[in-house]
Amino acid sequence: MQTGKIGVTTENIFPIIKKFLYSDQEIFLRELVSNAVDATQKLKTLAKLGTYSGDVSNATVKVSVNKDAKTITISDQGIGMTEEEIEKYINQIAFSGAEEFLDKYKDKIDSIIGHFGLGFYSSFMVSHKVEIYTKSYIADAKAVKWECDGSPDYTITDCDKQTVGTDIVLHIDKDSEEYLEKKRIEELLNKYCKFLPIPIVFGKKQEWKDGKYVDTDEDNVINNPTPAWTKKPADLKDEDYQNFYRELYPIAEEPLFNIHLNVDYPFNLTGILYFPKIRNNFEVQKNKIQLYCNQVFVTDSVEGIVPDFLTLLHGVLDSPDIPLNVSRSYLQSDQNVKKISNHITKKVSDRLAEIFKDNRSEFEKKWDDLKLFITYGMLSDEKFYERAEKFALLKNTENKYFTFEEYKSLIKDVQTDKNGTCIYLYTTDAEAQYSYIQKAKNKGYDVLIMDGHLDNHLIQQLEQKFEKSRFSRVDSDIIEKLILKEDIKESKLSDTQKQEISTVFQAIAPAPTYSIQFESLEPTDMPIVITQSEFMRRMKDMAHMNPGMSFYGQLPDSYNLIINTNHPLIEKIVTDTQAKVGKTIEANTQKIAPLKEQKEALLNSHKDKKDEEIPSAEKEQIETLNKQIQELESKTNEALREFGSSNPLVKQLVDLALISNNMLKGEELESFVKRSISLIK
Ligand code: ADP
Repeated sequence: MQTGKIGVTTENIFPIIKKFLYSDQEIFLRELVSNAVDATQKLKTLAKLGTYSGDVSNATVKVSVNKDAKTITISDQGIGMTEEEIEKYINQIAFSGAEEFLDKYKDKIDSIIGHFGLGFYSSFMVSHKVEIYTKSYIADAKAVKWECDGSPDYTITDCDKQTVGTDIVLHIDKDSEEYLEKKRIEELLNKYCKFLPIPIVFGKKQEWKDGKYVDTDEDNVINNPTPAWTKKPADLKDEDYQNFYRELYPIAEEPLFNIHLNVDYPFNLTGILYFPKIRNNFEVQKNKIQLYCNQVFVTDSVEGIVPDFLTLLHGVLDSPDIPLNVSRSYLQSDQNVKKISNHITKKVSDRLAEIFKDNRSEFEKKWDDLKLFITYGMLSDEKFYERAEKFALLKNTENKYFTFEEYKSLIKDVQTDKNGTCIYLYTTDAEAQYSYIQKAKNKGYDVLIMDGHLDNHLIQQLEQKFEKSRFSRVDSDIIEKLILKEDIKESKLSDTQKQEISTVFQAIAPAPTYSIQFESLEPTDMPIVITQSEFMRRMKDMAHMNPGMSFYGQLPDSYNLIINTNHPLIEKIVTDTQAKVGKTIEANTQKIAPLKEQKEALLNSHKDKKDEEIPSAEKEQIETLNKQIQELESKTNEALREFGSSNPLVKQLVDLALISNNMLKGEELESFVKRSISLIK
């Protein structure tokens, strides 16, 4: 028997292991099982090379719990260790690792195990004593037992182990008895060992027999030694990717697409990433990517390793080049990690670009589910924006999808305002803003749906990226002002002209049914528009159904007849009016002027007098003047009305406005048709 002390500074190792790694205590099983797997793979390699002649094709790693003895045993059929190797790997490596560890990370370690060859020693986090029974593959090697109770003292003795390989026996601490529960071990194996490359056996498969579960003869293998990401993409079908997704996330919805990563230069990286359907509550969907190091699970929190927006993806990354067991701040400054992160971003955007190019309709179908992810990426990663701007889509109210460029060319002619700014109209709620959307469409404008969780931010970003462009919500102003084509026009008509034209039109559209109004609309808008007050219409509709409101029912229909003062046809009517009745009006106006003057003078002289002080002759004179003025004015109006009722253009324009409101019926419609034909002649 040999005894000794483990390394020189080992006094420092155990307290550090226990103290700093306490929260991560459960990783002891991962460390021991992956050591066992390594040892098995090494022997398999030797067998392949012909250096070892034993049969290792069915080698497994067995984990077993003995509740009575309070032990956990990890057994492998790997290369084993000679006494010298124990001395070298177990006693000394730990020592050198510990020194490096202490120097570098005295203050700020979170988890260092493994990276510094301390993996095996993590067993002391849960054990008061650890035994190693091992027999090297080397011919005639004698089996050895190593034993240590957590103090720096160890013993090595011979033992009678017959088979090549290693058994590690942990005598579990009182504080750690949870690890003697089958369920707990199952949980840990599932978490850390699910995809290890050698079958891991934990007990026997069970079956239901005579009212209870009983062990069968078959080993219970808890892992899948050849997960999809370790295979060649060419060997996998869509179905295999889907099945693997199920294996990772048994209850998640089907993913949209996947990316198989397979890089061996300048770093080593394999993995499969999936695009899940991402809905608005994306915080809960983050951090589903699992990080592996040679198929050993390391973590499912990948912040710092992949860009934030990629944490929305699901799947597996496996790289021996990511220093997995050091602190996050170290990770973020690590050059390898940066390269890997950039590479993944590029791969993801390449894949999206490829699907967009090869199968646009499929891409469009999945866009609504992808959109949040891509938006998030564009907002948070400039490089990703540059790639995504070629395949990111905008959706309009007709559910059509456009790339940024396509959309720009769709709207730029129609929706550029007088300052040359292209206005992107959008709605955040197509239902609530329905009438505004319709108004915009009636103008020939297109309206985008921007109802996503990040669309507010996206709009801001796009306004910065797109040249001379602005987004306006469709209900944010009246449609004429949303996209200002020209300054709102001054009316071309004077007040007197408006008065005259009003009289002309009243010949055709008399009060009180019609109230004549003037608006300075575009010359390209309709010359005459007939509208009906929303309020009156509703009241009359209701009165029809409700006899109690008969007052409204008895009111005549009333409409606004709006004359577009900027329309050329209205201008023509103004000119025609002047030509036809201008002289009469002029003559009357000239006659009226002195009468008004006389009247004015009289009224002025009466200003400070009481009624009884005014001579009755003067009162009569005023009355006579009023009559004369009225007579002349009604002559003017008469002439205007006569002109209005005999002018086919006036009638025609009013009829056209009525027709567009579906208000011209019967005889009126008939005479409109006849008049139209005669006007064409
Ligand atoms: P690491 O695995 O990071 O090198 P460990 O402390 O876990 O550090 O193990 C140290 C060394 O001990 C391993 O590199 C290996 O050579 C040897 N070793 C550990 N466990 C086994 C085992 N089950 N079979 C054979 N060798 C082992």
